[in-house]
Amino acid sequence: MRIGSFNAEDSCESRIYTEISLGRFPHAAIIEGGTPEERMALAEKISAALICTGGEPRPCGICPNCIKAAADSHPDIPVFSAEDKAKAFRVDMVRSIRTQAYILPNEADRKVFILENAHSMGLEGQNAILKILEEPPSYVNFILLCSSKSGFLPTVLSRAAVYSLGEARLSDDNTIPREKLVSAASDIAYSLVSPDDFETVKAAGQFEKDAALLKSTLPVMQEIFAAALRIKFDGGDVEDDISEVAEKLSSKLTKRSLLEASEASDGLIESIRQNANHNLTVTRLCTLLRRAITN
Ligand SMILES: [Zn+2]
Repeated sequence: MRIGSFNAEDSCESRIYTEISLGRFPHAAIIEGGTPEERMALAEKISAALICTGGEPRPCGICPNCIKAAADSHPDIPVFSAEDKAKAFRVDMVRSIRTQAYILPNEADRKVFILENAHSMGLEGQNAILKILEEPPSYVNFILLCSSKSGFLPTVLSRAAVYSLGEARLSDDNTIPREKLVSAASDIAYSLVSPDDFETVKAAGQFEKDAALLKSTLPVMQEIFAAALRIKFDGGDVEDDISEVAEKLSSKLTKRSLLEASEASDGLIESIRQNANHNLTVTRLCTLLRRAITN
């Protein structure tokens, strides 16, 4: 998924943006509250901005570091997560993070570790992570994601800056089966390799009376565009159910088109969030995606 820029209207994001611009973003940051997806999206934005080699505003979205970050394939942004949401963050994982932190970055100037569900880290794990938070290598940042900072030891909290996304919420409940979403997203994706604009209009017809379907399908479209980009770069792993369509897009569209298509989907997701008129959004979907692929 393309990583958007920081939202200057949002006080938490504008604070982070200023800190990064001034080179003052802390070595250890805790992001709490919001949904798990919102926390991860912010962490991805921060990590891309920290290693971006393009101009302001960072992340620029087009430098090699930003592109790899957006494709979730940057070697200097390792993501760790408790394997099972119910299980704790294992202490041996924390130890491995510590070892890796002392290894210099591969491609970027910095290394950014993202720790998902960090609140599930037990005392032993927290004490292990504390050792490195006390004296982190100069090129390392840690971003710990959690529903609430209250799960951390005061010693850990004293070493980290806390950014709050407000009240913690569960993921948006998605009642449409993935199979249906993949099928809807694939219809749109396949229509983009046809030279005929009308193919996309036809494929978008299924959303005309189904705003919920469109809302849930857009993130899957993002997944497909990101997977197609990943295939172009290094042939990284792609989810089975979208691999065929992603390969097709990857072979038929340019990187630039894929990036713009992904950006267009971002814009559509945002307008749905702002309750834009549904029919207009469907029309924009066709226009923006067709425009994206002419690059
Ligand atoms: Zn960049």
